[in-house]
Amino acid sequence: MIRIEREAWDKMVAHAQDTYPNECCGAMLGMIDGERKNVSVAIELDNAFDGGQEERYELRPEDLLQADREARRQGMDLIGIFHSHPDCDAYFSETDLKNSCPWYSFVVLSVKRGAFDHANSFLPNAEQTAAEKEEFEHPS
Ligand SMILES: [Zn+2]
Repeated sequence: MIRIEREAWDKMVAHAQDTYPNECCGAMLGMIDGERKNVSVAIELDNAFDGGQEERYELRPEDLLQADREARRQGMDLIGIFHSHPDCDAYFSETDLKNSCPWYSFVVLSVKRGAFDHANSFLPNAEQTAAEKEEFEHPS
């Protein structure tokens, strides 16, 4: 299961709403204790997709590498990646699956008419053929 602390959560929601009507993306940092992941820091990253950003996001590998370094510097791990779905539900799309990595949690935030609506977290499999919903806890 994944749990997101208040400060990180507020930052993720604000980033998703500020970026609307485009998709936002970012990194989630924290500690992993067995099956429990606790996210205490969120880092906003640039959507580097060269095209319609209402429907897609792309992370620069170097941005992700830097987030990973920042996690280690703070004695934490890079737990996952978040992105938003403007005017769309928080599901895991085919594109999301294609761009996924099995060792991260993927949080999707649904933003409707500019306001946060709901969110889900997903765990993609190694074959990138399916992603199961992860037990997910976040402040309201
Ligand atoms: Zn998506």
